[in-house]
Amino acid sequence: MSGPQPTDLHPLERLPEEWRAWMQARRQPTYRGDQVFEWLHGRNLADPAAMTNLPAELRDELTTVGLAVPATVAHVHRSTDGSRKLLVDLGDDCRIETVLLPMTRGSDDADLADSEDEDGEDGGEGEHGEHRAGNASGGPATRVSQCLSTQVGCAMGCVFCASGIAGLKRNMTAAEIVAQVSLGRKSLGPDEALRNLVFMGMGEPLHNYDATVRAIRILTHPKGLGLAPRRITVSTSGLVPEIGKFGAEFGGKVGLAISLHQADDAKRSALMPLNKRYPIRELLDAVRKYPLDRRRRVTIEYTLVAGQNDAPEDARRLARLLANLQVKVNLIPMNPIEHSTLGPPPAPRVAEFQAYLQSTGLLCFVRRRRGDDVAAACGQLVLEGERPNARFVSRQPRG
Ligand code: SAH
Ligand code: SF4
Repeated sequence: MSGPQPTDLHPLERLPEEWRAWMQARRQPTYRGDQVFEWLHGRNLADPAAMTNLPAELRDELTTVGLAVPATVAHVHRSTDGSRKLLVDLGDDCRIETVLLPMTRGSDDADLADSEDEDGEDGGEGEHGEHRAGNASGGPATRVSQCLSTQVGCAMGCVFCASGIAGLKRNMTAAEIVAQVSLGRKSLGPDEALRNLVFMGMGEPLHNYDATVRAIRILTHPKGLGLAPRRITVSTSGLVPEIGKFGAEFGGKVGLAISLHQADDAKRSALMPLNKRYPIRELLDAVRKYPLDRRRRVTIEYTLVAGQNDAPEDARRLARLLANLQVKVNLIPMNPIEHSTLGPPPAPRVAEFQAYLQSTGLLCFVRRRRGDDVAAACGQLVLEGERPNARFVSRQPRG
C-alpha cells in the first residue's frame, strides 16, 4: 500500500509496524507500539491514562499527542426495528452517518450482512470479547452488522441516492472510518456482538481507495479488532480499475458488492453517470476476475426504482446478463429521498421481479427496508434538509 509516511498518520490509523517505528524514533522498545495498537483497536480505548502497561512518561506523551479523532456522536436515531443510526460529527462542519443493524438469527435480512455465514462458521474471531458470538450469560449474542461511510457526500451522482444528490464534500480519513467502528462498538448492548462491516453508507469506498484499504487493514489486524476479512463487504457503484486493484490488495478475501441497478447501458447511464465511463460489460468483467473464494458469491445490488428498472423486460435482461456468474442478487426497493420524485415499485411488482429471477436459477433476496423511520436506510445517509449542492462541492468521478 503506497501512501503517507507514519508521521503524517493520525494515531488511530497507524498499523502496528508504524507504531513500532514511532516508538523506535522515541527510543522506546518497539513492543510498546503493539501495546498501544492493542489498546486502541483491541480494547477500543483511546485514553492514554488507562493504558496501564505503559510507563507514565509514555502515557504523558501520548496524552499530549492525543489519540482520539474528533469524531463524536451528535445524535442517535433509534428505529422501532432495533437498528440505530449514529449521526457522527467530524469536527469541521462535516457530519456522516453510520448504522448499526442487529440481526436475529435466521431472519430474512441476514443477507444484508453480505459477508454472511456461507462457510457455516459460528464463532467470533480475534481475541477481544465483545465481538465474539456469545455473551456473558452464555447465550448466543445478537449479531450486529455495521454500515460504514467513507466520504462526506459522494461524487458519483446516482439519481436515486441522497449522497449522490448532495455531491462530494470531502473524503474521510482512515482514522475517521475506523472511528465509526469504535463509536459503534461503544454503543453495543451487553447481548450484542459486532459481526459484519459493510461499506454501504455515505460515499463511494473505492473513490477513497487508500483510506478504505488502510481502515480495513486496521480493522482486520489480529492485534486489534481482528475481524475476519470475509466479514467485511465493500460496495461499489463500479469503479472498474479500483475493483481489480482491491481484489489483488486482499486476495479476494474481502466481500464485494456491485451496485448494478440496470442491465441496459443507456438506462444505467441515466441512473448512474459513472456507467458512461465504465459500462456494464467492463464492470461484469471485473466481477468475473475478482478473486473471491469459489464458495462465495459477489453480491449484485439492484435498487428497484418504479418506472425505471422494474419492468419484466428489465428482469429478463438482468437474468441473461448474470447467468453463469458466481453472484447473488439483493433487490432493494428504493427508499424515497428528499429532492427526488423517484420511489419504489409496489410490493407485488417487487415480488414478481424476484420470482422471475429465481425462476432462472439466480439466488435472489429482497432486502427488507430497515430503519426507514429514522432515515437510516441505504441511500438516506445524508443530513435531512441539506440543500443539494449548496454546501457540497460536486466533483466528477475520476478515471
Ligand atoms: N457508493 C457505494 C456504497 C454506498 S451506497 C455504492 O453505490 O455501492 C449502498 C447501496 O445503497 C448501493 O447499492 C446504492 O445503490 C443503494 N442506494 C442508494 N440510494 C438508495 C435509495 N434511495 N434506496 C435504496 N437503495 C439505495
Ligand atoms: Fe455514491 Fe453509492 Fe450513492 Fe451512487 S449510490 S451516489 S455511488 S453513495
